[in-house]
Amino acid sequence: MKKLFVISGSSGVGKGTVIKKFLERNKDFKLSVSCTTRGKREGEEHGKNYYFLSRDEFKKAIDNGDFLEWAEFSGNMYGTNKKFVQECLDNDENLLLEIDTQGALQVKNKMDNAVLIFILPPSMEELERRLRGRGTETEEAIQKRLHTVKSEMENAKAFHYNVINDDVERAVEEIEGIIKNEQV
Ligand code: 5GP
Repeated sequence: MKKLFVISGSSGVGKGTVIKKFLERNKDFKLSVSCTTRGKREGEEHGKNYYFLSRDEFKKAIDNGDFLEWAEFSGNMYGTNKKFVQECLDNDENLLLEIDTQGALQVKNKMDNAVLIFILPPSMEELERRLRGRGTETEEAIQKRLHTVKSEMENAKAFHYNVINDDVERAVEEIEGIIKNEQV
């Protein structure tokens, strides 16, 4: 059965950078574009980074059963398009989901072929430093995200693999190794 790879990690852990590098090096992998109710950040594009929906549109999509999983994260809603995932798997395409830990656990429960990878920071101090350094979030949003880290760490125990992002290159190589092993 075609494997569905799911990557999660706390905010500021550098998972965006790790995934970007992974995708650059593994052109046969696609990243699923999620739906969200959060506001667009500078430089983000509808349909590329996310499908930006209103809360009403998002709720309608939930009622329609459009999502493979969805979760409320830091006051916003995020969801994975079920049809898109199914089509990729049917077409034998390599797919990566970058979603939060609640969503990842939903996918694990629904899909036998899901492989969950959690990216960990080298330390909590380093995580906080990175989160502030990004400069895209208000202090309130940062505090909210730091609070969610604890429950994310708890959820991470149910993941198949934990990868420490001490060095981007090394972390990407470890993920490549995991994926190669899972695909045989
Ligand atoms: P951000 O707002 O920084 O883009 O993302 C916040 C969190 O939402 C991240 O942990 C990201 O992995 C997660 N996320 C993005 N898309 C989805 C999705 O479709 N489902 C779930 N459950 N989480 C998502």
